[in-house]
Amino acid sequence: MADLDLVALAPRYGIVLQRRGAHYVTCCPFHAEKTPSFKIRVDRPTRWRCYGACATDGDGIDLVGRLRFGAAWNARDRDQFRAVRDELAPDLGPLNPTRGPRPALPQPTRAAPLKEAAPLSAQALYVLDKALGLYETELWGLGGGRATPLRYLRTRGFTDDTLRRQRIGYCSGTQLLTTLESIGFPVEVARALELLHPRHEGARDQSERDLVEHLRGRIVIADLDARGRARYLTGRKWAPWLGRASKYLCQKAIAPPLYGLAQLPADGSPVLVTESLADWLTLRQWGYAALGTSGTGLSHENARVLRGLGRPLVYVVQNDDPGRAAGERWQKAVGRGRVLPTPSPYKDLNEVLVAGREEGFREAWTALLRKESIPPA
Ligand SMILES: [Zn+2]
Repeated sequence: MADLDLVALAPRYGIVLQRRGAHYVTCCPFHAEKTPSFKIRVDRPTRWRCYGACATDGDGIDLVGRLRFGAAWNARDRDQFRAVRDELAPDLGPLNPTRGPRPALPQPTRAAPLKEAAPLSAQALYVLDKALGLYETELWGLGGGRATPLRYLRTRGFTDDTLRRQRIGYCSGTQLLTTLESIGFPVEVARALELLHPRHEGARDQSERDLVEHLRGRIVIADLDARGRARYLTGRKWAPWLGRASKYLCQKAIAPPLYGLAQLPADGSPVLVTESLADWLTLRQWGYAALGTSGTGLSHENARVLRGLGRPLVYVVQNDDPGRAAGERWQKAVGRGRVLPTPSPYKDLNEVLVAGREEGFREAWTALLRKESIPPA
């Protein structure tokens, strides 16, 4: 791989070098200081080293990696390395030996809204997963005593095994910002993803100190990728001090996923689709191949995914008129699938779980499969 000339590269990332004898020097971009201790030898412009507090060093890839991922940068992490290599591809390409000036590279601070089907950047995936890891620790760290989110989840019938497997968490709102700052991860990335936002929208002073966690006071339910990493977070209101805030809060910066898509078994079995994350989690606990959304709205993109799934679809809806109407709407939007209302007298699947009536649902499910001649798997 071509060695990157740091004297050309650094200024494009806002690092201004000054010639001092046999070195180029500047204040280290990775720790706070007033006297420059970040150095590049003039006769070896492909390596940098900080002789100050952070004592880091590396080549051009490491420089950009640390700017993008902070102290979490690890050149051996495949996703991180690829992200930086792709960003630097024009400089690293073997057919591109010229070192002339190039247009400035996109900076994360200018992050545009991410609402599109495009895959998330390695930085975005890193911070989503990091946040979820913190939220998991918070949920279990608070214990299961009275008035804890864990106690609440248990009263809803969820086992600790389900909560751990689906990586359910709780956001107290006190951890994310300090953690990101302590590892030097660009806070702007978390802002663009709506994990953090200004305490007062539109306030003139929007310094970092004034940022709060979007999901504070909420139980966090994540959509996980095939490797179990978070790629989307929804917050379910839990803390009493949230008052009349909406029950579910999503990240508007990312297109809403079909929860559980990456976890579907690849056996062609029928897929149950629900409009409630609590019902989706219930179905996961019972071992069904299930997809979930938060609410009855179905995006065009998700309708398209369901249409193309190539396996039988059953919409499990709430046992009331709005539920049935939603089932019919989904059927129409996707163009196929059957509707299965939650068996009476229960309103939704989570009520069935709390009542210990899983068997009742299983009977309704097998009856539907038989009636519609759907092979169970
Ligand atoms: Zn340093």
